[in-house]
Amino acid sequence: MARIYTLVNQKGGVGKTTTAINLGAYLAQHGQRVLIVDIDPQANATSCLGIDKHGVEQGSYQALLGGVAPTALILKNERLNLSLLPSSSALAGSEVELVDEDQRETRLRTALDTLQDQYDYILLDCPPSLGLLTINGLMAAQDGVIIPVQCEYLALEGLGQLTETIQKVRAALYPELRVRGVVLTMFDRRTNLANDVVAEVNRHFPELVFKAVIPRSIRLAEAPSYGLPISAYAPDSVGAKAYEALAQEILAEDQPLG
Ligand code: ATP
Ligand code: MG
Repeated sequence: MARIYTLVNQKGGVGKTTTAINLGAYLAQHGQRVLIVDIDPQANATSCLGIDKHGVEQGSYQALLGGVAPTALILKNERLNLSLLPSSSALAGSEVELVDEDQRETRLRTALDTLQDQYDYILLDCPPSLGLLTINGLMAAQDGVIIPVQCEYLALEGLGQLTETIQKVRAALYPELRVRGVVLTMFDRRTNLANDVVAEVNRHFPELVFKAVIPRSIRLAEAPSYGLPISAYAPDSVGAKAYEALAQEILAEDQPLG
């Protein structure tokens, strides 16, 4: 059985993709079999791993709507020991196309079910919206959602809406859906504001905030342009250390699965 976590926050630019890639890279470095699933039409996770989205002929769109088995769609980076179910521009139409499909909320979950034995961790990178792609991401989040929150002014804005969506999904479709944790991102210790945000998020999500806090780091922002996770681009940087700490925290908390 794989652990399946979904990176979600409908607010854009908070670090969902950066967390999916770099957490995934460190989990892989710890010997875990890791698959990143890109269900964002922007295909940022795909690009961050050095894949040109325009060159992707088949990806998560085909798994969701084309009836193609995901195993046939996965790209493996042997050097990083990291697998990717890529996104492509085709996914942009899927919000509309899914509306008329049977099982429109659970198509991703069904597709990923076939991969349970092949991976230890599956990390889903969602788009910045609460549409059907994200709902598919929530329904597939077998072991919970991970919510990145940027340490800045209005950080909590929109989290009420996200919590409400999670509650609606629980009530209507998936009572077991849990929040695995909140990751504080782009923390700048020089500002009082960042410290205030940390305190506020801890108040809002008691017991759910990961101890590892991700600092603002230029290296983290640069790595995607080289198509590399931070573990390969700048392993000694503060951002790298923070994502490694996050991976270790999650590994330590997750009980071995039978
Ligand atoms: P979207 O909602 O558009 O999918 P996202 O939530 O996935 O965005 P990212 O793409 O991970 O957010 O990050 C937004 C931008 O901030 C990117 O340019 C990324 O490189 C940069 N970034 C992310 N985390 C950090 C960090 N800790 N320090 C500096 N830059 C960062
Ligand atoms: Mg993203």
